[in-house]
Amino acid sequence: MITSTLKILSETDKEACEIVKVSEEELTVDKKRLFIESYGCQMNFSDSEIVAAVMRNADFATTSSEDGADVIFLNTCAIRDNAEQKVRNRLQQLNNLKKKRPGLVIGVLGCMAERLKTKLLEEEKMVDIVAGPDAYRDLPRLVEEAETGQKAVNVFLSREETYADISPIRLNSNGITAYISIMRGCDNMCSFCVVPYTRGRERSRDPFSIVEEARQLFAEGYREVTLLGQNVDSYKWKSEKGKIKPQDEIVENENVTTVNFAQLLEMVALVSPDLRVRFSTSHPKDITDDVLWTMKKYENICKYIHLPAQSGNSRVLKLMNRTYDREWYVQKIDRIREILGEECGISTDMITGFCTETEEEHQDTLTLMEYVKYDYAYMFAYSERPGTPAAKKYKDDIPEDIKKRRLQEVIAVQLKHSAERNQLALGKVHKVLVEGPSKRSDADLCGRNDQNKVVVFPREHYKKGDYVHVLVTECSSATLIGKVVEEVPA
Ligand code: SAM
Ligand code: SF4
Repeated sequence: MITSTLKILSETDKEACEIVKVSEEELTVDKKRLFIESYGCQMNFSDSEIVAAVMRNADFATTSSEDGADVIFLNTCAIRDNAEQKVRNRLQQLNNLKKKRPGLVIGVLGCMAERLKTKLLEEEKMVDIVAGPDAYRDLPRLVEEAETGQKAVNVFLSREETYADISPIRLNSNGITAYISIMRGCDNMCSFCVVPYTRGRERSRDPFSIVEEARQLFAEGYREVTLLGQNVDSYKWKSEKGKIKPQDEIVENENVTTVNFAQLLEMVALVSPDLRVRFSTSHPKDITDDVLWTMKKYENICKYIHLPAQSGNSRVLKLMNRTYDREWYVQKIDRIREILGEECGISTDMITGFCTETEEEHQDTLTLMEYVKYDYAYMFAYSERPGTPAAKKYKDDIPEDIKKRRLQEVIAVQLKHSAERNQLALGKVHKVLVEGPSKRSDADLCGRNDQNKVVVFPREHYKKGDYVHVLVTECSSATLIGKVVEEVPA
């Protein structure tokens, strides 16, 4: 039974990569105040937590309002043009604040800073600091320089920086779920994508520092971690002999130890059976059977995979340089279903109107969606990014109105599938990690099931951080609704 209109993919959802998050108020006196506003993907939100930690060491406390801030950082996204326009509009607003308070320091961090470098200082005069994603340790120095009235820039991209030793300060946290960055950068060259240019070469973080961070979070009461990277399945860490601590077990030969993603997943899953593990993003070319079997082996690894297809047509995928074709992608989906079953949640990213995409090729995207029946999708109209291979080699020749119309068609199909997939949940008992009160009513709690779907149920005596079993009796395309049951079916 569908109880409400199909509205899972609101404007906010569609543009999930353009959501803004701001830092929290820390109750301290005698400290300088830092306001951080983060745009873009989960990686950026996670990076802002590293920035907050670096700045705390320089005696800054975060604030939730720009009004009282001494320093304002915008941690930016460059993935599509509208993400950059949003930041530019915000800078204009901040300029008014700066006119009133000339001592205010404004920094642009992240992907847009890396893409535009000093050009940003020329174009946006109110900006004092430009810092790329690998320059966050240098922020206190850059702030000092800016406080003397100079412009300060660091857009150096590193081959080693993973911020492994920095304990992030959790921002916008519910105290239950947290992100852990496991790698940085990207070595894939998807022709539409600016990320390899703004985040540099791929590098994997020391697995023992990742496990330690997960242990620490668990000890603090967190019950779910999401391992983050642009392409988590290509995670690979090598260590020289001697760097491994005796209690850490993975040993391959006398001189070198390597840890791949399946092994890392297992190491994190073993922190505690009560710590849920999620990960994002998987690249279809890299996800292995080993990863799928590891997911099956551990109950606490959530059965949910974000596996962006981008297009359902092999010629377009080739132009996108995704390095797989439609058949390969379909085989991966079949393998996921074989090993993890029909109930494993699968989501995707789709781009409409990529260079030269025909109507028939667009139809292939729709038929791929019909085949997979995704639980969820992030869907975008193609936005040409300067300097990318696509911008250099192909003409952005699909008119905006056609890109948008195709996007609407993709969204309509996804709405139908989200509803259908949610209906599969009806009448079944789901293990739910409680995240807090439901948005609509304080009498209800909400949490997520394994497949990352939001489940709402009466509060009774349950609380944040509990695992409960909920019998789902109603659903919309966005939410599952039910009641906690004490008897759990075997
Ligand atoms: N690394 C992930 C992967 O390969 O799937 C995704 C990273 S990217 C931050 C998130 C999504 O933005 C991509 O999957 C793609 O769908 C979309 N995207 C990237 N560049 C784009 C562009 N130029 N125009 C429209 N969408 C784009
Ligand atoms: Fe961009 Fe492709 Fe790397 Fe994802 S895998 S970040 S889409 S280049």
